[in-house]
Amino acid sequence: MKSFIKKSWAEPYKMKMVELLKMTTPQQRKKALAEAGYNTFLLRSEDVYIDLLTDSGTSAMSDQQWAGMMMGDEAYAGSRNFYHLEEVVKDIYGYKYLIPTHQGRGAENILSKILIKKGDIIPGNMYFTTTRLHQELAGGKFEDIIIDEAHDPENEFPFKGNVDLSKLEKLVKKYGSKKIPYVSIATSVNMAGGQPISIKNLKELRAFTKKHGIPIIHDMTRVAENAHFIQQKETGYHDKPIREIVKEICSLTDGATMSAKKDALVNIGGFLAVNDWNVFEEARNLVVVYEGLHTYGGLAGRDMEAMAIGIGESVSDNHIHARVGQVIYLGEKMMEYGVPIVKPIGGHGIFVDAKKFLPHISQDNFPAQTLAAEVYLDSGVRTMERGIVSAGRKANGENYYPKLELVRFTIPRRVYTQAHMDVIAESTARVFEHRHKIKGLKMIYEPKYLRFFQARFEKI
Ligand SMILES: *Cc1c(COP(=O)(O)O)cnc(C)c1O
Repeated sequence: MKSFIKKSWAEPYKMKMVELLKMTTPQQRKKALAEAGYNTFLLRSEDVYIDLLTDSGTSAMSDQQWAGMMMGDEAYAGSRNFYHLEEVVKDIYGYKYLIPTHQGRGAENILSKILIKKGDIIPGNMYFTTTRLHQELAGGKFEDIIIDEAHDPENEFPFKGNVDLSKLEKLVKKYGSKKIPYVSIATSVNMAGGQPISIKNLKELRAFTKKHGIPIIHDMTRVAENAHFIQQKETGYHDKPIREIVKEICSLTDGATMSAKKDALVNIGGFLAVNDWNVFEEARNLVVVYEGLHTYGGLAGRDMEAMAIGIGESVSDNHIHARVGQVIYLGEKMMEYGVPIVKPIGGHGIFVDAKKFLPHISQDNFPAQTLAAEVYLDSGVRTMERGIVSAGRKANGENYYPKLELVRFTIPRRVYTQAHMDVIAESTARVFEHRHKIKGLKMIYEPKYLRFFQARFEKI
């Protein structure tokens, strides 16, 4: 007999140590927010109750990882932990050669310097801030080849991280394959809201690039979360373990940069991994200049050990099911309250549509910045703006007016409980209830670069 009782998932771990949170009063939050110039980046973390600013470096490590920290072999060269990490990367991801780096951007810097020449074109499935900047600094130009659906928050296509091959074909025709050193492919596309790419699309891309002799470099920062969506939504993958799917994704690419601060459950670390010996040789030379010797790349032995163990934990089906499950739980709860969010729900956070949430506030009065401030005022939950403030100004001084005006609620891994998710959804819903009374902000201080970090605002 089929049972009609819901089968819930639960966290595949229990708590051994807790960190006490400071609970604040509305008066305290009002004061803290005014002092921070209505910018959540300028709040002290001590004044925050639930911190959803980012999922980067904010994971909780397991007891195994902490035990690994005690096994750090802090030798300058040839640390045991390096060889362990190398073995794990080969075993789980399948890449042949490993260069550890202090974090993801360290790997991006080295790789871009090796592969990109001035005037080169690097097609990719949507840009990421540091990735694109390193490509540009190396003399290249990024070209977006993600499918159009990725730019539409209403579109519920399940694989919004997919590449539009016709866009890539146009670039190959226009510039020639010699001008394209590699295609840059992210799994769980961050800037699109953690949207996955399908194996089918990746296989088609592999076939196309093979024909033209163009390698694929994989930004594998959130590869396990991407594998979860393939398992849940792609035909033929329902019974495949996450571990196998992750390996299949990697096998369709030629090398990877990794920010281990995300998927791999550590607070710091990253790496470059490649299959080509010549690229490895050059990377091994360059890493000494920018990061440290090729067997530590700016990391302590203990950091590499925690990363090696974290990678193993990150591809467990139970872990990833609970991780993405928690994000989906929060998103569905918000939708029940009528809060407008980007769909489908991605792997690492919920993106609230501030244009729809506060339609009476013009983009010049910063709807997403305002909403992030209001959520903090209501409950001490810290989120971040991804809209006109983040978009910045063009070279001629005019503001960019991005189509999307979003507030990002990013969920750290293994840190918060389902009850925290309830508090977050309820707080957002309370703000939604009195949305008509909310007024926008005006900017009173604007830094020259990456203004969203340090800009200050006042209520109008
Ligand atoms: C975080 C991130 C990076 C950069 O990694 P860092 O560890 O922050 O230097 C690169 N790509 C993506 C998709 C990221 O999310």
